[in-house]
Amino acid sequence: MDKVYIPDIENAPKQTLVLDVDEFLTELSSLTAVQGQVTLMHQGNYLQVSSQAKTIVTLNCDRCLQQYNHRLTVDASEMIWLSADVPADEPGLEIEVTLDDPVETLSPRGYFSPEDWLYQQLSLQLPHRQLCDQNCEGLLKEAEKIEQPVDRRWAALESLKEQMQGN
Ligand SMILES: [Zn+2]
Repeated sequence: MDKVYIPDIENAPKQTLVLDVDEFLTELSSLTAVQGQVTLMHQGNYLQVSSQAKTIVTLNCDRCLQQYNHRLTVDASEMIWLSADVPADEPGLEIEVTLDDPVETLSPRGYFSPEDWLYQQLSLQLPHRQLCDQNCEGLLKEAEKIEQPVDRRWAALESLKEQMQGN
């Protein structure tokens, strides 16, 4: 996804650019292409960036360690401040307006990366607890797997005993 030169948004009809997205993101290993839209609106001293997008990613279950597919959807909107104090070649600056609330700020003559922004939004949607199923009994299944080789060893010993008795 190409970076967008911010003055191009200002010069667009209604100061708005709508980008159709149907591609894989460099930093996100997803099963399907990310599909949706990113809308950029130039509001003078800030950009209003919004997106509806979806994709499917493969995650590892925290319980049974199996891989499973998870649908990620984004429905997000964010303001990005434009400040002439930021150098035009600066990819993005977190300016702390208050201690808790750093705001991403770009140069009005700089570039906005829809791909980086979309990647951030999708990453925020990843579940903290990754479970293939809410009722996944991963630990029980793991315990069974550990018991099996022991069982097999006992079985081998039993057949050995039978052989010896047979002789
Ligand atoms: Zn699981």
